[in-house]
Amino acid sequence: MKRLSPTWSLAGLILIVLVPLGVLSLLAWRGARAQERAVWEDLGREAELYGRALADRMALRLPEMVSFRADYPDPPVPGSASTMDIVLEGSDIAALKSLRDSPDAGLSAAGLPRQALAALRIMELAPGEQPARELEGLLMEKHPSILTEVALAKIDPQGTGARETWEQGRKALAMLRDRGARSGWVLEGATPWWFQLEQSGVKLIPPRAVDRLLKEESANFQHRDFQPGLSLEGQDVQADEPFRSMPVAFGERLQVDVRLKYPESLAAAAKGEERRILTLVALAAVISAGGLLLIHRTLKRERKLNEMKSQFVASVSHELRAPVASIRLMADALEEGKLPPETVKEFHRLIAREGTRLSTLVGNVLDHARIEQGRRVWKKEPSDLAPLVADTVAVMEPLARERELALSSELQALEETVDADAIQQALVNLLDNAIKFSPPGGSVSVRLVKYDDDRIWCLSVQDEGPGIPKEEQARIFERFYRPGDELRRETQGTGIGLSLVKSIAEAHGGTVTVASTPGKGSTFTLRIPFTP
Ligand code: ADP
Repeated sequence: MKRLSPTWSLAGLILIVLVPLGVLSLLAWRGARAQERAVWEDLGREAELYGRALADRMALRLPEMVSFRADYPDPPVPGSASTMDIVLEGSDIAALKSLRDSPDAGLSAAGLPRQALAALRIMELAPGEQPARELEGLLMEKHPSILTEVALAKIDPQGTGARETWEQGRKALAMLRDRGARSGWVLEGATPWWFQLEQSGVKLIPPRAVDRLLKEESANFQHRDFQPGLSLEGQDVQADEPFRSMPVAFGERLQVDVRLKYPESLAAAAKGEERRILTLVALAAVISAGGLLLIHRTLKRERKLNEMKSQFVASVSHELRAPVASIRLMADALEEGKLPPETVKEFHRLIAREGTRLSTLVGNVLDHARIEQGRRVWKKEPSDLAPLVADTVAVMEPLARERELALSSELQALEETVDADAIQQALVNLLDNAIKFSPPGGSVSVRLVKYDDDRIWCLSVQDEGPGIPKEEQARIFERFYRPGDELRRETQGTGIGLSLVKSIAEAHGGTVTVASTPGKGSTFTLRIPFTP
């Protein structure tokens, strides 16, 4: 079966998972946008309903607020003398009251309304008998005059309230007259007013009344999100433009503005859904991408491991076949008995060497299998390490000699509880590599030392071989790992030697490391702590 390359399989996985995810996220995002638009449209409709209701109520109630101000001649026109003037001079409260309430009281000789004069007199004589508000109405609506200003100053010395309204009314009236307009809404400050000029005065809704009305009505129409206001259509819009504006059917141009109380939080809430969906999609994308990458890496590693395993089986077969074949050939030749004595000696040496190689190889393979299956039992007993190492070095000596290598050792005496066979096996593997990879004429040295206040012992094998590039140094301890491709490899091997050394070091609570400079050689070191 033809295998897809890893790049293609990754591309396939991405297509299968990421493309539908991409389409889904696009749909989800569009959905979220539509939802956001819908939220705003709903809110807009609600604001229109709210504004409409308030505008209708305003239109209904505004006529009630209209008051009339008679246009009093200035300077005043004098009236004719009457007995009523005597009442005004006196202090008969009852007579003064009836004069105040009489519509036919007329004007005094100074041209002042007798009704107002009577009310002022009552206020002077018996302040409790004459409510200021009533007098205010009398002066402003019925008899506006120079007297009105004087009287209002008396009632309202701070110049607030009624007096202010009166002043503003006069200004607006003058303005309307200047413009030649007969009626309409006018803006004075921030508040609109309504005026209508009549023959003998002006009808008006003062700004305070408009404000009050809006407050009253909006108190009945409270809304969580909306803040009502009034403006005139076409008026310069201030910085915060209203969310919706609804016309009021009273005069022209007046409109109820609906503003959002918390525009930011509403916008955030409307956007929230979109953000939530996008976050979810992004999270799903990241998780899927991570998952895909993980699957891809696992598959790749699995594939690589399988390749390495088949390579391993091939190298093991090869490594077994070669020594077995040469042992057989030499044994046959020896059996025939026709060889000269030096060749016989040489054949014996070679058979012994091949035997050692075979037993190392078989030992490695068996141990590897046991360790893999967790069946390797470590038999640790107190051992003298120096003689153990010396014996192993001696076993490897012929191999070194054959490759014209000087094998030396420097061993400190030390006793430690170890699996002696395993330590020996580790050393054989390290020495086998050092010998195998070194060019003839070099030297290989073995050191056994204690250090770190006798807490750790080290066994190292140093060679003057080709060295190992930095990027390979970490990988050579992986099982089956042999750098380069099989055809180009000059040395034989199976790729399990160093992984066994590592397992042995770890089984003793220690580590194995390599220090190597390409071209200069390598040093492999086992560092194992003494058992306490
Ligand atoms: P094998 O020797 O059977 O290939 P190992 O696990 O013993 O397997 O070693 C893995 C690889 O590490 C070797 O193939 C080799 O490339 C590298 N290596 C090990 N020891 C040495 C050394 N002393 N000098 C240079 N390269 C080495």
